Amino acid sequence: MSHEPKSDFIRDIVRDDLAAERHTEVVTRFPPEPNGYLHIGHAKSIGLNFGLAREHAPDARCHLRFDDTNPTTEDVEYTEAIQRDVRWLGYDWGENLFHASDYFPQLYAWAEQLIRDGLAYVDHLDEEAIREYRGTVTEPGRPSPFRDRSVEENLQLFRRMRDGEFQDGECVLRAKIDLAATNMKMRDPLLYRIRHSHHYRTGDDWVIYPMYDWAHCLSDAIEGITHSLCTLEFENNRELYDWIVERVDIPFHQPRQIEFARGNVSYAVTSKRKLLRLVEEGHVAGWDDPRMPTIAGMRRRGVTPEAIRAFWDRAGIARTYNVIDYASLEHAVRDDLNTRAPRVLAVLDPIKVVLENYPEGETETFDAPYWPHDIPKEGERPLPFGRELYIERDDFAAEPPPGFFRLVPGGEVRLRYAYVITCHDVVRDDAGEIVELRCTYDPDTRGGNTERKVKGTIHWVAAHTAVDVEVRLYDRLFAHEDPAGAAEAEDKDFVDFLNPQSLEIREHAKVEPSLAAAQPGDPFQFERQGYFVVDETSTGDHLVFNRTVTLRDTWAKVSQSAEVVEREASAQKRAEEKARYKEEQRRAAAEASTEPELSAEDQERASRFHDELGVAAHDAAVLAVQDEEVRAFFSAAIVGRKDRAAAIAAWMINELLRELKDRDLDSLPVTPDTLAALVGLVEDKTITATVGKEIFAEMVEKGGDPVAIVDDRGLEQLGDADALLPVIETIITANPAQTEQYRGGKTALMGFFIGQVMRETGGRADAKLVRELLVKALG
Ligand code: ATP
Ligand code: MG
Repeated sequence: MSHEPKSDFIRDIVRDDLAAERHTEVVTRFPPEPNGYLHIGHAKSIGLNFGLAREHAPDARCHLRFDDTNPTTEDVEYTEAIQRDVRWLGYDWGENLFHASDYFPQLYAWAEQLIRDGLAYVDHLDEEAIREYRGTVTEPGRPSPFRDRSVEENLQLFRRMRDGEFQDGECVLRAKIDLAATNMKMRDPLLYRIRHSHHYRTGDDWVIYPMYDWAHCLSDAIEGITHSLCTLEFENNRELYDWIVERVDIPFHQPRQIEFARGNVSYAVTSKRKLLRLVEEGHVAGWDDPRMPTIAGMRRRGVTPEAIRAFWDRAGIARTYNVIDYASLEHAVRDDLNTRAPRVLAVLDPIKVVLENYPEGETETFDAPYWPHDIPKEGERPLPFGRELYIERDDFAAEPPPGFFRLVPGGEVRLRYAYVITCHDVVRDDAGEIVELRCTYDPDTRGGNTERKVKGTIHWVAAHTAVDVEVRLYDRLFAHEDPAGAAEAEDKDFVDFLNPQSLEIREHAKVEPSLAAAQPGDPFQFERQGYFVVDETSTGDHLVFNRTVTLRDTWAKVSQSAEVVEREASAQKRAEEKARYKEEQRRAAAEASTEPELSAEDQERASRFHDELGVAAHDAAVLAVQDEEVRAFFSAAIVGRKDRAAAIAAWMINELLRELKDRDLDSLPVTPDTLAALVGLVEDKTITATVGKEIFAEMVEKGGDPVAIVDDRGLEQLGDADALLPVIETIITANPAQTEQYRGGKTALMGFFIGQVMRETGGRADAKLVRELLVKALG
């Protein structure tokens, strides 16, 4: 984690104000209206306001103020939820908890003052007439017939409003400003309206309630707020904010309103009105349903406050409207849970495996580490093993598609931490559903040790100690990236865009026995499946796990053709950018080597890399001029692998240095060992260079052991003709026109066919072999 001071235009303003001694302290506030639960968007504002106070401590504070001026929608349940959520996010208002409703008497007194100054009047026009009289952007407003009432009459009417002598909507108090103002907010804005309802704090004391524009700025002024930060939709309110504050007697500096862009996240709605509808209409189980973008929902989903803060930190504060992809929130969540969630085994959709040659009644245990080796944490647990196991239904295929490397009839697969097993028989019930797999295990492969190559590794749980649990597989609540926008554009309702698959329940999942004692809130990674958290309703008798997030972005894979094209275009751009970068490096290296003041030390290093380690000349030069930490990375990577130094250097220069253009080596989760392991996989042709680069991109994002990644996902190069021929046949049959043209002499189409095969195999095919096979098959 970097601890660099954060910087954005608001923080700059605050720093400047302090430097110029416009203020001696910083006072901010977070002003929620208690009419719903806080959502992911609020977290941005909370992080900014409370963050600023923290950054300027001890001469700073952030108030939590309930903007409770609307009795009809507000509730004490919400004030409690809001406090809980702000605290959970990691912030503390200390003694500074305030309520706008506490200021009602003061706000009322100031309103009378405004009337006495001839700057406000009671208007008996109804809502619609007021709107009509106000004019439009191109047309000035007309004065209400009640605009020129005397001060005396206004005072009297306003007091009668307060005393409950009028019905709701019968009259309002308006500021008397300027009906021709270009800013519509200045055309005699409403200050008070009548609401005969019970307020959750002031009860029936009041029947008139201040409007936002009157209450907000004056609450800020009363509390001595120095910087009143709000979202862009209040930009036009700023003029009114200043107008009002200047016209009342306050003993403080005038607070300054500054606007920033709302935080929007795709695949979510963040309007409390819409969230309330989801709750009230039963689309979700409540405000804290784990699919809700509320703080309470995300907490129950297993998202941590650190992940939310990191997400908004990365997004930054600016004034331009933007929507952040939900995937980047998920990314922040994975990033955080990676070092927090121990790895365990769980089978969500179990199918039984019987190991026929494993002695009946016998058991043994394996010591399984909780953490992969790139995470500096220790701990392990015994993992029981026996004759009967559960594996994931998906990890077996009776009729495997090409490239399926898990269990198949007659095939082998490695059980994570345990043995290699072979499937001999498939037992089905009357309906043809598979109920059991009869397998044998190979005792010589204990602990996963094998000389021979076994392509897939799967997870499992021993039946005799398995714990039966409920698993809730949550997914995105909406299937559309912009449900509110789409509803408007297509004249639909936003709930039409709910994702019907946002929750799938597995009532009888099987987990390893170490999870029997898991407590609500405990995070886990179920290997190969995702991050999960123990639900707050979970008990020892009935454990319930919520899926927080899958291990990979499953939504990116939805391959609508437009998306594919877009992705290919961006791959192309990446390749071009890479080529350019390589060229730059080469030029820099060339310059460096002719540069007279290139230190003798650098030159000496370059020739050592070249002569002793066989690193290509220009790579050696580039490497020689790098910072010490980069060179140390290289030295560490080649320990025991000097024969691969050239390849490791090339990967560092072509791939790793590129990443370092805008990141620190420190912050990259790639280690010398994992990079060297990856290079090894490419060099010994276990994987193709294409797959190698994909894995590298993934390692840059979230670390990981390339050997395990290849293993788990079966990314090995398809290097045998048997595996490739069916794919080649499919491609030829699917492209009759191109086949005919090729056969008619247009051999340049070879590239097209190779490309198709590579795509079909996810880049895993050995390109040379593919070419050979295609030449044969196409004749
Ligand atoms: P909603 O439209 O959901 O009712 P709101 O802005 O009316 O939201 P409030 O409770 O008044 O909700 O918001 C409290 C504070 O949080 C305000 O200062 C508001 O500007 C800020 N806020 C609300 N939504 C966002 C968001 N998406 N991004 C950043 N700040 C937000
Ligand atoms: Mg609001």
